[in-house]
Amino acid sequence: MKYVSTRGNAPVLDFEQVTLAGLASDGGLYLPESWPSFTTEQIAALKGASYVDTAVAVMTPFVGDSLTAEDLRALCTQAYGRFAHGAVTPLVQLDHQHWLLELFHGPTLAFKDVALQLLGLLFERFLSGSERHIIVVGATSGDTGSAAIDALAGRAGVDIFMLHPKGRVSDVQRRQMTTVLAPNVHNIALEDASFDDAQALVKAMFNDPSFSSRFALSAVNSINWARLMAQVVYYFYAAVRLGAPERPVAFAVPTGNFGDVFAGYVAAKMGLPVAKLIVATNVNDILHRALSEGDYSQGVVVPTPSPSMDIQVSSNFERLLFDLGGRDGAALSGQMLGFEATRAMRLTNAQRDGASALFTSDRIDLDEMSLAMRWACEHAGEVIDPHTAIGLAAARRASLPADVPVVTLATAHPAKFREPVERATGVRPTLPARIGDLFDREERYASLPGTFEAVTAYIAERAVAK
Ligand SMILES: *Cc1c(COP(=O)(O)O)cnc(C)c1O
Repeated sequence: MKYVSTRGNAPVLDFEQVTLAGLASDGGLYLPESWPSFTTEQIAALKGASYVDTAVAVMTPFVGDSLTAEDLRALCTQAYGRFAHGAVTPLVQLDHQHWLLELFHGPTLAFKDVALQLLGLLFERFLSGSERHIIVVGATSGDTGSAAIDALAGRAGVDIFMLHPKGRVSDVQRRQMTTVLAPNVHNIALEDASFDDAQALVKAMFNDPSFSSRFALSAVNSINWARLMAQVVYYFYAAVRLGAPERPVAFAVPTGNFGDVFAGYVAAKMGLPVAKLIVATNVNDILHRALSEGDYSQGVVVPTPSPSMDIQVSSNFERLLFDLGGRDGAALSGQMLGFEATRAMRLTNAQRDGASALFTSDRIDLDEMSLAMRWACEHAGEVIDPHTAIGLAAARRASLPADVPVVTLATAHPAKFREPVERATGVRPTLPARIGDLFDREERYASLPGTFEAVTAYIAERAVAK
């Protein structure tokens, strides 16, 4: 399997190279050069398969020659062995039509563990036996940081520097990052900074030739293809359990960077019968406007109780636009450069028509989110987190035919967001026993001014050069 950039002007890479590279050198994102496709019989053969068996079957065509079948299986067994539920991503029934797919049974209680636990092992595997050492630099509003740190702590050949805006992540989220004391983990709290400031600093580091040429920089956010690949698996796992390939299944996805829902698009491209992908946003609704009106224009980020969706630029949307626009790298590159210059763009007719065949979208405000939390609690006895509630509200409003099961992706454990959950439901969720002593653990992090000079000097002092 070969990977090409959405902007058509970067080297073609194999799976190992694309995993370690993250972003393409032309500013684009990597995608498989064509979609592998599964026959109805191949999908039917997944009935009754364990999560690991499903993962191996779904990911094999993407991995190509970069791993043997035994190696891929061993890595999946190790990654998913750390999940607290035997099904890894269990389905929970809410009513005759609606289901939750619980993606939060990993070590840090958010769906990002599903992909990052595997990515950490892939990094270690591809770097082992070589002299290479990579430096992962990332910015987080909470969930990505803790999941990436857990996945990379203590792994050979990798150092991770994670920037978070000081005082703007929840106590649980901060402690999940700062109580990991492995020597290759470096937490930086940026003073007087927002998440966007932190992300802008990371971008500036990647774009600064004198900094980026000294270190082998890598990314673990959802621009990394391997993360998306790992997320395709649970669409197959859930759909097959609910009747695929004979019966189509719909998914509602609480969306920020368009990574999770893009994995659903990939599953559909591979032949999984996906009835609809419901893209759910909070009031930060750039994706809803893009999909419903063709208007992809950046607004101002409004903070909400679903912080992982407080996003006004959705990096992975570029992958969809590329695929729907006939995979024309030059045209897409022009479209994206236009967006970068004016912070606005229109989807082409081909992109809009292509998207409307599979996607619908909805924007869920605070009241609708709280109502969904209350409905799940009162009608199904399920306490759900604010992100999941946004997905569920959109799922229920989509009014799909009654014979189509609708699966809402439950992206975070409710205990990660105790205040809004308690406000909406009266129930204060407790942290699972496996991370119950979080508040007694020692924390370690550096507080730095949010300037390029301060942060790059701190990293340069501690990072292993190329
Ligand atoms: C990251 C995250 C999302 C958004 O996922 P994307 O892949 O960025 O669309 C939704 N919910 C939670 C809890 C998250 O951590």
